[in-house]
Amino acid sequence: MSFDIKKVRDDFPILQQRVYGKPLIYFDNGATTQKPLPVIEIVNTLHRQSNSSIHRGIHYLGEQVTEAYENARKTIQKFIHAAQPHEIIFSAGTTASINGLAFSLGERFVREGDEIIITEMEHHSNIVPWQMLCGRKNARLKVVPFDDNGVLQLEKLETMMNRKTRLIAVMHASNTLATINPVKDIVSLAHRHDIPVLVDGAQSVPHIPVDVQDMDCDFFVFSGHKVYGPTGTGVLYGKEKWLDMIPPFQGGGEMVDSVTFEKTTYNQLPYKFEAGTTNYIGAIGMAKAIEYLLSTGLRSIAVHEQNLLHYAVNKLDELGYITIYGRAPLKTSLVTFSISHIHPYDAGMVLDKMGIAIRTGTHCAQPVMQHYGIEGNIRASFAMYNTLDEIDSMIEGIKKVKLMF
Ligand code: PLP
Repeated sequence: MSFDIKKVRDDFPILQQRVYGKPLIYFDNGATTQKPLPVIEIVNTLHRQSNSSIHRGIHYLGEQVTEAYENARKTIQKFIHAAQPHEIIFSAGTTASINGLAFSLGERFVREGDEIIITEMEHHSNIVPWQMLCGRKNARLKVVPFDDNGVLQLEKLETMMNRKTRLIAVMHASNTLATINPVKDIVSLAHRHDIPVLVDGAQSVPHIPVDVQDMDCDFFVFSGHKVYGPTGTGVLYGKEKWLDMIPPFQGGGEMVDSVTFEKTTYNQLPYKFEAGTTNYIGAIGMAKAIEYLLSTGLRSIAVHEQNLLHYAVNKLDELGYITIYGRAPLKTSLVTFSISHIHPYDAGMVLDKMGIAIRTGTHCAQPVMQHYGIEGNIRASFAMYNTLDEIDSMIEGIKKVKLMF
């Protein structure tokens, strides 16, 4: 499939504007991506024409929107290659999915003295919920380190697993180092010890094809807004056997079968985990975003984004005063770096005035910054609509920053 960058850019109205009189260059896609017209339009149309609570009304609107919601579930199922639609739980995002899972898994399986393994490169949302669980249960959090290139030291993981390990939680792709982790190998290692694995796909799903059955992970999570969908949307995928075994993390309407003051029984999957009125319009919008991604072509997007990545890394290296964090052999399309003797915040402020939106700070991964002994750095994260010309503008911007300070 050929990749038509002009057409892609035309689909994203936000990119057509100027900021401070300059064309907007949006390099903060790791934080959130912009929305293409089909997503904006479906959310608008649903609010105008079909809004009605799902799974409740027997009326026309209720049935229409319920059908669209369940079709959205099937779209997500196919997208990540889950075996069953009911293994897809709609959530408010990666953070919500992990927190919910930490509660449910913890209630059923984690006891005093048990252990959870995470990695040193995790986003805070795959650290703190596990830390909180360990605090509640008197369990222990163990951390697999990465080397200075940003590659996980998997030989250490092998020595950390034992019969007390209840879960390994690992990110598929790093939001600071860009490393794509060998999650399939990690899962196969863990399964030899009967340990389930959660994969945080927040930074992988927008860039690489995901097949949860091939990966064989037990849980997989991602956010809709990072994959061109609406905010407040996301997914918790779990293998049926696990979702059946763990209790719900929220109680309320829809997630029940019968309720008396003495006893409540729970609804079947996936509704057991979808208490209350969900963000159904958002979920349908997220599925539309995924249809857009697929119709643009996952592979051609990946080729385009890898071009951007390599071009940016080479240009940054050529400057001679840039430190890049993360040199793993397999990376997604983002790069974090610092400019010698310049505070990231100062650089970010100056670039912003040139219309270039990059991210500065710790990127919700303070342990990664601690690894390198820095307070923070600069991140440029690329999406399908970014161009080589935009990277040239960023490089020119960095040169100006260097002259100014
Ligand atoms: N995990 C990773 C790897 C991320 O990059 C992010 C967001 O930056 C999250 C989790 C949290 O995602 P959200 O804020 O959408 O819940």
